[in-house]
Amino acid sequence: MSAPPSLPRPELSPPAHPLERLPEEWAAVLEAWGEPKYRGLQVFRWLHQRGVFDAEQMTDLPKSLRRKLAEESLVPPLSIAQAHESEDGTRKLLVSLPDERTVETVLIPMKSTQPGDGYTPEEDPDDEPTSAWVTQCISSQVGCAMACTFCASGIAGFKRHLSAAEIVGQVLAGRAQLEASGERVRNVVFMGMGEPLHNYAAVARALTLLCHPDGLGLSKRRVTVSTSGLVPEIDRLGTEFGGQVQLAISLHATSDERRSEVMPINKKYPLAELLAALKRYPLPKRRRITIEYTLIEGVNASIADAKALAKLLRGIPVKVNLIPMNAVDDNPLRAPSWESVDAFQETLRGQGVPNFVRRRKGDDIAAACGQLALRGEKKKVRVPLPTVRS
Ligand code: SAH
Repeated sequence: MSAPPSLPRPELSPPAHPLERLPEEWAAVLEAWGEPKYRGLQVFRWLHQRGVFDAEQMTDLPKSLRRKLAEESLVPPLSIAQAHESEDGTRKLLVSLPDERTVETVLIPMKSTQPGDGYTPEEDPDDEPTSAWVTQCISSQVGCAMACTFCASGIAGFKRHLSAAEIVGQVLAGRAQLEASGERVRNVVFMGMGEPLHNYAAVARALTLLCHPDGLGLSKRRVTVSTSGLVPEIDRLGTEFGGQVQLAISLHATSDERRSEVMPINKKYPLAELLAALKRYPLPKRRRITIEYTLIEGVNASIADAKALAKLLRGIPVKVNLIPMNAVDDNPLRAPSWESVDAFQETLRGQGVPNFVRRRKGDDIAAACGQLALRGEKKKVRVPLPTVRS
């Protein structure tokens, strides 16, 4: 379904890195240089469609303009310091940023996922997993300020926001990494390090760039923004992107008391406010909001919890992703037994709530949910970002 034509244009932060310029912003820059406007689209395409940052390779541009662009220092916003491949085909890339900080991004083959498990944002007949399709999990911040008790990203605390260029750069790097194997980034999920809605302006610009038809051209419904529940920004995302972007909410508990224990953000935006925001999210017909629910032994995984969850979500179009908690170093919290996971799932099913258990991906390389910490911070191996040509 296409977006209604009268959508308000998202209010975007000014572009800081050349990769952040939209075609019309490039056009304005080039016009000021005395170039025709249409060249803006050409430059945008070189960067976003082909991942080419070297102006000399932009062969359809006049030599003088190439020289000028080279002076603009069109450097990639990041480089890949390390790549690890898991036995299940999941690849984790350690991304090195210009200030030497690092984040991680994870490439998950869709053939190893199930519809609705959070890595396939939309249940769609087209989503018949093929070996060539990959879901990329990206980071939006270095560290995270949300301090959820079960998540490794929160442990180190918040370091800084990523820029829109650093967010889009992860997808360009992911695409380059897949080029040799003929795989393609089909879905993008903001489920790596950080709280995307805490970095709204950069994330909104990144969404606009990622979904631009002359750029990477991702479909908005194939891009999932996962949030711990920042209510004003959920509203903003809904309004500015017309409900087209897939929304995932990390719920993890059914009472304010329990949720505030595991997710401090609940003290600011308690359950009633969060659920009200979900009800008013302008969801297109036949689409569902994803509810992420990490199952933690002794915390939220009883049959009574499953019943409470079904009751809480009544009347809201949702699909629930159950995520048995992945172990985090030195953290005593852990997943319940598989019997308890099954029983939880059965109870939800009995109450008519669509749900899926997210199987672990990349556990052996610490790339599973909540395991993306700042371990790579000290490593300094650097290889340049490969460019993609087409
Ligand atoms: N800040 C965003 C993205 C977080 S990562 C958010 O809160 O939604 C994506 C999902 O993994 C979230 O639902 C998060 O709560 C969950 N998660 C975090 N740590 C986990 C762990 N150790 N085991 C399983 N899931 C975890």
